[in-house]
Amino acid sequence: MYQLIFHSNNSDIANQIEKDFEIKSIKHDGHFRFNLTSENKVNLQSLREKYHEDFNLVDQSFRFEDIGLMVSDMDSTMISIECIDEIADFANLKDQVSEITEQAMQGILDFNSSLKKRVALLKGLDLSVLNEVYIDRLKTNPGAELLINFLRNQNIKTALVSGGFTYFTDRLAKDTGIDFSRANVLEVENGHLSGKTSGRVINSSEKANFVKELCQDLNLNLSQTLTIGDGANDLDMMNLSGFSVAYHAKPVVIERANACICYGGLDKIIDFFTNKPFS
Ligand SMILES: [Mg+2]
Repeated sequence: MYQLIFHSNNSDIANQIEKDFEIKSIKHDGHFRFNLTSENKVNLQSLREKYHEDFNLVDQSFRFEDIGLMVSDMDSTMISIECIDEIADFANLKDQVSEITEQAMQGILDFNSSLKKRVALLKGLDLSVLNEVYIDRLKTNPGAELLINFLRNQNIKTALVSGGFTYFTDRLAKDTGIDFSRANVLEVENGHLSGKTSGRVINSSEKANFVKELCQDLNLNLSQTLTIGDGANDLDMMNLSGFSVAYHAKPVVIERANACICYGGLDKIIDFFTNKPFS
């Protein structure tokens, strides 16, 4: 059995859906749910486009109460920027970095090579630039704090993973109360970037490995994980998790995730967990 979740309080739209599909709505805190029968054919894409709101289908046999870990991508998922682009902007290297990003997007360069090339461009940059990017440019996406606080109250562990840099993931994790983080380590020499990273490159498969490692450490099954991402690099970890959410994501990610949030904030993810009718 599936439930349609309408991630909004808009009762006019809920009433319209009741009429169109001949189904009853159930009001919850912050959203509506509809129990679907096998006769109900719901096209999520057309609902989303028609109402400019978030709609998702959830399999009622999936136990959200068993989720013990949330792992989220950082750039353009938990925060609104791509850190490396902002560093490049500060250092007047935006064009060079964009060119490499473009090559990676066209498939000319793989992630590891493109990271290496971009980090090499940052050689000699003063560490204070990273601080400035963090202070001036890095903002969490809407609803991030609500989501993190909700998960903490449910005793769900939280983790941040990024193909970017530990300078940002570690600091953001600390500032927001996220339990774990992993990213690439920028090598520093005398207060300046050396143009290299140290240790393993955190790419798509290393993001997935991070989820596996955390599950082992926390004694959880992969099915007890929730992952959130926006880019192709998040697909490996999203594929192996129990429930994956594409957040304002690229089409390929929306296609393959269990759910997507394209209009609302990160706090809409709380709706999946709050399955108690509103009275
Ligand atoms: Mg991202």
